[in-house]
Amino acid sequence: MRLKTFTWTATLLLSSSILLAACSEQKEQSNEPKKEQTSQQTTNTEKGQEKRDAGGYIINQKTPKKEHYVKGVLIANKVYPMPQNFAPGESKEARKAFEQLNKAAKKAGYTFDAFSTYRSYDRQKVLYDGYVKRDGKEAADTYSARPGFSEHQTGLAFDIGEVGKPGDYADDRFGETEAGKWLAENAHKYGFIMRYPKGKEKVTGYKHESWHFRYVGEKIATEIYENNSTLEEYLGAKG
Ligand SMILES: [Zn+2]
Repeated sequence: MRLKTFTWTATLLLSSSILLAACSEQKEQSNEPKKEQTSQQTTNTEKGQEKRDAGGYIINQKTPKKEHYVKGVLIANKVYPMPQNFAPGESKEARKAFEQLNKAAKKAGYTFDAFSTYRSYDRQKVLYDGYVKRDGKEAADTYSARPGFSEHQTGLAFDIGEVGKPGDYADDRFGETEAGKWLAENAHKYGFIMRYPKGKEKVTGYKHESWHFRYVGEKIATEIYENNSTLEEYLGAKG
């Protein structure tokens, strides 16, 4: 399996202190070391009554029978996992919207690639288990979602990068590029929100990711963008 081979090759190349991003498979793309990233972990006391473990997950939470919707919007985070058999595939509506976004981007001089979108429960399990094996659970939890908890399983999450710059994929550097800035300012017009904004770590449960976008439709995306808000805040849901 290509990824596995690459993962273990990467282990030799990258120092053990290097943390990778929460949602991505950027190891397949990246050829240079990532900066160490700050942990997105949240503590038990900040999160209300449920006891959380070091990774920010509710202790002893069982996989639900059904995925969770608020106001008709699917939400997936550390409080609301998805069932193992929830496998919608990549959203056609989100893909269409991404293509529209890319058309507009091209006019502005940028071309984007959605380098990671839908990931099944099983795929996430393979990734997460591999990271745990390599770095230990505590470290893995800072950059990879546990199976059932990744927003990529919804089929609505798109990791976006600039074509020709795979070194910036799933890297903080992307947010500093002109393309990354354009995306942050314009994605909502096509129905995408920056899912894990800077300064909202305690609300979303994740550190800032300048590349991870979630399709919610133009109306909701615009409202969230204009209010400098998050999906959790918009829906009144825990994160
Ligand atoms: Zn992602």
